[in-house]
Amino acid sequence: MWVAGGDRPGLGPVDVVVNPATEEPLAEVPSATPGQVDQAVAAARAALPGWRRTPAAERGELLHGVAAWLRGHGDELGRLMALEGGKPLVENTDEVGWTANAFSYYAELGRHERGRVIPSVEDGQLALVLKEPVGVVATIVPWNYPLLLLAWKVAPALAAGNTVVVKPSPYTPLATLRLAEAFADLPDGVVNLVTGGAEVGEAMVVHPGTSLVAFTGSVATGQRIGALCASQVKRTHLELGGKDAFIVCDDVDLEVAAPGAAWAAYLNAGQVCTSAERFYVLEPVFDEFVDRLVAVTKGLRLGDPLDPATDVGPMVAEAQRARVEGQLDGAVREGARVLAGGDHGGRERGWFLAPTVVVDVDDSMDLLTTETFGPVAPVQRVGSLDEAIARANALPYGLGANVYTRRMDYMLRCMDELEAGTVWFNDPLTDNDAGPFGGMKMSGNARELGPEGLEAFRETKHVHLDARAERKPWWYPYGQQG
Ligand code: NAD
Repeated sequence: MWVAGGDRPGLGPVDVVVNPATEEPLAEVPSATPGQVDQAVAAARAALPGWRRTPAAERGELLHGVAAWLRGHGDELGRLMALEGGKPLVENTDEVGWTANAFSYYAELGRHERGRVIPSVEDGQLALVLKEPVGVVATIVPWNYPLLLLAWKVAPALAAGNTVVVKPSPYTPLATLRLAEAFADLPDGVVNLVTGGAEVGEAMVVHPGTSLVAFTGSVATGQRIGALCASQVKRTHLELGGKDAFIVCDDVDLEVAAPGAAWAAYLNAGQVCTSAERFYVLEPVFDEFVDRLVAVTKGLRLGDPLDPATDVGPMVAEAQRARVEGQLDGAVREGARVLAGGDHGGRERGWFLAPTVVVDVDDSMDLLTTETFGPVAPVQRVGSLDEAIARANALPYGLGANVYTRRMDYMLRCMDELEAGTVWFNDPLTDNDAGPFGGMKMSGNARELGPEGLEAFRETKHVHLDARAERKPWWYPYGQQG
């Protein structure tokens, strides 16, 4: 672990990090004890006064240094993430680049302004809205994009003058621990990295020394964290799961829409919070879309994440694959038909699940109502765009939505009516550092990236300043007013 500017081995139970492609152990990582969580929070608290007073431009320079370190270590980190998480190598080296970009973006945004001047209520006064750091940010992230999701929290939190305690997932702690070197030029205690699972996470959440919990993960864990924080009225920043819809309209070029759909469903073996998990295809193009999607799906190469020819790697863990297979089996028992995949792609070792196309499904099945988080594309026909939008909005989740169409009238309707934090037209799952990312409804209560992503880590103070310090006519005694 990395606490107070030094290496601190965890003294708690040991987690074994396993390569999901080979099932071989990669490393043993001891967790933090409760006492070590206290030490990390204390280190972050101690660093807070100095860091919040550090001029924003200087903080920005240090964040640019983190970005430069990341860019210089893309290959090493990419390989490490491929080994511990199972994403194909190119997806990991891309992730390192995007992680660096988030640090660069907030290095600049953090020094742009720290509030605003508002009109005063009286002449001779100055009224300010000041933006301040919130305090110590407990940062808890999942395994699917370990560095990127860390950066979307840590970069704006630091840019805003907060200090942080970060906990990666026990599935993927290795690349995160390597970041200690990236943060080594920051003052001691500004960034602290601790290891462990749910217990360590909860200790960070309930700790009276943490001021805000920034969390990405499942809805169930988010609900638990929200409930724990309620008693302390602690701020939460929750980025949770989804069940994203993908609408294919009747005017599209299916040669583009079908591979676009495959990428949206199978990227990172479907383990993306914005993976497309429900396909609603307008009747006139349904049959051809399914044929093309099946053909693309069958052509994908399942394999070793380190092999540059691999399209889809293993799932992160046996339990994750078993959950997805359980959902698939349930759907098949209820009448669904698997047209591609549905098996382990002939691989005996590693937690592989071949990209899968399913039809004859309906919206009542668990496969269509609960987050799958695996490489499965359930496809349904719809009679109209109205029906597609209504069914897309029918679930309590609202993270992202995709639409393939070139018709402006369709785009305007989907843009206005889809209940999702991001709506992508004809370019699935693309992020933009300047564009806020997050969920509506049960998919979250916050936004990352963009100015909104900085605001999430700032406290607001209204300063009312009267330079004259004169007695006011509206004070007591009321009898003399007039
Ligand atoms: P998870 O909720 O099981 O775990 C996420 C993190 O929380 C891990 O670090 C874990 O150790 C920790 N944790 C678990 N229980 C905790 C508790 N009680 N208190 C504090 N911390 C606890 O999720 P996961 O399986 O690691 O990740 C997959 C989920 O993340 C999916 O649901 C996915 O949709 C979601 N996700 C959302 C986004 C987004 O931006 N909205 C992005 C990526 C992933």
